[in-house]
Amino acid sequence: MSLRLLVVEDDREIRSLLQSSLSVEGFAVQTAVSLSEARALLQHDLPDLIVLDLGLPDGDGVQLVRELRRQHTVPVIVVSARHQEAQKIELLDAGADDYLTKPFGIAELLARMRVALRHRGTSLAAAVTTHTLDDLHVDLTTHRVERDGATLHLTPTEFNLLARLVRSAGRVVTHRQLLTDVWGTEFTEHTHYLRLYMAQLRAKIERNPSEPRHLLTETGIGYRLADS
Ligand code: CA
Repeated sequence: MSLRLLVVEDDREIRSLLQSSLSVEGFAVQTAVSLSEARALLQHDLPDLIVLDLGLPDGDGVQLVRELRRQHTVPVIVVSARHQEAQKIELLDAGADDYLTKPFGIAELLARMRVALRHRGTSLAAAVTTHTLDDLHVDLTTHRVERDGATLHLTPTEFNLLARLVRSAGRVVTHRQLLTDVWGTEFTEHTHYLRLYMAQLRAKIERNPSEPRHLLTETGIGYRLADS
């Protein structure tokens, strides 16, 4: 059975492009042009993944994500224009899985969809405990971090920060999510902690810390641990 997608997008051209190119990839695609149409469809039937445009004629995508997250874990990928940075962060903090900035390629969207679907799968089965990419290997159960087979010595905070990113490997994690999960809810405004610890982590993990291959910056939003 093919996976079912709901594409919520008011721009006719983008909507039909997504519908045709994702159908070709074997997905069963439903579309909605507004929040109200999306809500109506979602009452009948929950898709396997939602692609949600930020700017819709009858309101804000954040509201839909909040409504969904009260009951469901269905992956949501947000697509937005470049100037909608602030809303994008709000959406990720509200529980959206990832985002793409327009214009984006279908290959990029498919890659993000695969990661989001895989995370939903693993979150239902076993939690992610290891991460390997190129020279880097992380084992969360033994607290072992290796580069080229050599053990790296991380401080507890550096390890917790890396562990948080490993659990979401391939997906963006916002500044707020990282600060809340690693330092605690009272530290959500302390973004300088993140900059400091990320620089320390990169100095240990990256072959060339000024051109990070693993710990990627999502400007103005957060960080992403590369997983391919
Ligand atoms: Ca729009």
